[in-house]
Amino acid sequence: MSMTATVTVVGSINMDLTVSTKKIPEKGETILGEEFATYPGGKGANQAVAAARLGAKVNMIGSLGNDEFGSSLLTTLNDEGINTEGVTLVNDVATGIATILVSDNDNRIIVAPGANKKVSPVVVEKYKHLIIQSDIVLLQLEIPMETVIFTVKLCKEHQIPVIVNPAPYQSLSQELIENVSFLTPNELEVEEMQQDTLLDSLKDKLIITKGEKGVGYYQEDKEQFVPGFAVEVQDTTGAGDTFNGALAVQLGSGETIEEAIRFANASAALSVMKFGAQGGMPTRQQVMEFMQ
Ligand code: ATP
Repeated sequence: MSMTATVTVVGSINMDLTVSTKKIPEKGETILGEEFATYPGGKGANQAVAAARLGAKVNMIGSLGNDEFGSSLLTTLNDEGINTEGVTLVNDVATGIATILVSDNDNRIIVAPGANKKVSPVVVEKYKHLIIQSDIVLLQLEIPMETVIFTVKLCKEHQIPVIVNPAPYQSLSQELIENVSFLTPNELEVEEMQQDTLLDSLKDKLIITKGEKGVGYYQEDKEQFVPGFAVEVQDTTGAGDTFNGALAVQLGSGETIEEAIRFANASAALSVMKFGAQGGMPTRQQVMEFMQ
């Protein structure tokens, strides 16, 4: 990479609260579980960390509660070298959390978005200078949809490429589709999009992740495929986030779509070899060595 890309992520920041258990409790039942652990998470923060590990200059725009999880998550982002000038601490609302019950073959998750709901268009407008200085902007759907649409339009107005990772899936408005540069659904999300939207009109914006198989995209109406890397899987949590962070860095530094996807596939493959979402995200050097 000849230059360091500047990537701005507008998105969620959560604390993941994980309890492993042999059994999921029934209605009204209390059981003794196994281990409890907290992990920094939220798709926005995860993608920002992925991009920062890969050497990009990363700005985060998001909101945290003025509480212990908030200050701990802010420290994590700062420690990764992410510019947190755009991360607001809001009073009277809790930091976003996800409670995750992990049992052998079943995960149950409740997300309480809390402060992530406060990432309004007004907040993005306030930190517009970060967006305007960026090579690329990256969003997901864990903040209010009106903010996603506002940001995508702002990027279009300033001719800054913008990626929307449509997860967790919600219907995408025509306004979003018209103004976005790239959409990165996984296979399930693309099926949902198909039910809502005429995919034909946005084919050239689609980059579809297909787990270990790899990634599909369209060039002049023809489907292209970039195969994934076969690795020993430890934990696939955060594979999509690593992919999106890496893709943004490479597209932001001027690589072709194909080159950027190959690099992002390698980054995501490395991430599934280790436990945890942010825990497994590789550095640029690790990806370069792996791709040789
Ligand atoms: P997740 O929700 O698990 O974070 P996702 O459903 O958003 O992921 P996937 O399509 O499953 O997205 O994975 C994203 C990318 O991660 C894939 O395109 C691929 O590059 C890589 N990847 C995922 N799973 C594997 C795997 N088992 N082996 C190698 N690469 C993988």
